[in-house]
Amino acid sequence: MVRQSSRQAAQLKSAPAESKPPRTRVKKETAAVEPESDADAPKAKVSKRKAVGTEPDDLRNLDPVQDKKQEAKKPAPKKRKTAAKKDPEDSMLLAARTAVASLKRAMYIGAHVSGAGGVQNSIPNAAHIGANAFALFLKSQRKWANPPLADEAKTQFHALLKQHGYDSRKHILPHGSYLVNLAQADAAKATQAYDAFLDDLQRCEALGIVLYNFHPGSTGGASMDAACARIAAQLNKAHRATTSVVTLLENMCGSGNVVGSRFEELRDIIALVDDQSRVGVCIDTCHAFAAGYDLRTPAAFAQTMAEFDKIVGLRHLRALHVNDSKAPLGSHRDLHANIGTGCLGLRAFHSIMNHAPLQGLPMVLETPIDEKGPDGKTVENKQIWADEIKLLESLIGMDADSAEFNDKADELQAKGAAERDKIQEQVDKKADKDAKKGTKGKRKTKKKEDESCDSCGESD
Ligand SMILES: [Zn+2]
Ligand SMILES: [Zn+2]
Repeated sequence: MVRQSSRQAAQLKSAPAESKPPRTRVKKETAAVEPESDADAPKAKVSKRKAVGTEPDDLRNLDPVQDKKQEAKKPAPKKRKTAAKKDPEDSMLLAARTAVASLKRAMYIGAHVSGAGGVQNSIPNAAHIGANAFALFLKSQRKWANPPLADEAKTQFHALLKQHGYDSRKHILPHGSYLVNLAQADAAKATQAYDAFLDDLQRCEALGIVLYNFHPGSTGGASMDAACARIAAQLNKAHRATTSVVTLLENMCGSGNVVGSRFEELRDIIALVDDQSRVGVCIDTCHAFAAGYDLRTPAAFAQTMAEFDKIVGLRHLRALHVNDSKAPLGSHRDLHANIGTGCLGLRAFHSIMNHAPLQGLPMVLETPIDEKGPDGKTVENKQIWADEIKLLESLIGMDADSAEFNDKADELQAKGAAERDKIQEQVDKKADKDAKKGTKGKRKTKKKEDESCDSCGESD
């Protein structure tokens, strides 16, 4: 069993749908307005659309029972012929989408948005924050059993895709369930994992989505080679049972028995996949850094990219998770930070945004957006993502020696200083403890399987 990420757990604890948003956040995520200056997103007629995305990115809301409760509380869906100008709350876009053609490099940047209430809602939720690419969960991440994809959701998904001009073959990157471990050795559990995995792939194909990202899994204490072989075997089976979806292994940060923190492990899985066109990699920048791959300076970035190319092959790189890291290099801690505020710093993201081979790939933010509201309750502030998307886009073609860049980099570093110090202290303490135990420099291998790497969040 792979434990649910603490990021997800944090989300579970957070913002009820009715919680009051902070000042910068619009009250309803109805996202009824289309981008005003987006060549990639043709203006849409918003008619007869159900009120969408009124929930926060809260996994409870992927629970159909919860959804029904929420549905009851929602205002009646409004009919709109044109982008709703009447209700300023509804029409307030957090950011308009940038026309990718207007950028010096074709970078498609977005975030992992909510598909609460139905996968179709992810589309206006993405448009709402000015995302040109996005990720979503296709079903509840905390349950094995999920109702099948509703025909209505599928129809609406396709209609909204057209309206908003997203290319489902390129720029939508569903994220696999944290419950699924394709390296599972136990036969019954392996079947359960495979069935849930295949179900996700089939949903992708029904929605016209080509790329699908998942965490490779956990060895469960077995050898890494055996785990990689099991993952590849499951992938081969899943590829044969589907026609087009491309499965992307996400690199991990290297804690416990988690598979995929070394590029060699990704290579070994890919090598055993029969149809090479159906497998690829999604690099998570936070995970890479925490696993020991430096990206901070242009030289370090170039070195890491060269290493990836040599070991895995750049042709297999199909997507990125763009996250800064609260934890230092090689700490094996999975703590996502907001762009520029973490140990990677803005320079790393400048390198990424100006790296030609990354053009056209979906780049997805999984950065923290939880904030304390005036009433002390945690609320999601999606303006943070809207701003981070614009920040990343602004780095394209920017002179990294300019005062503009350096001022911004310094400002963001100062913002994250306290958090970085806090984590550094924890890492140092652990290193001391390990040194005393004589385990310094060794990665723990006797950790339980459920201590997964994916603790992208606050509670770690
Ligand atoms: Zn990630
Ligand atoms: Zn993570």
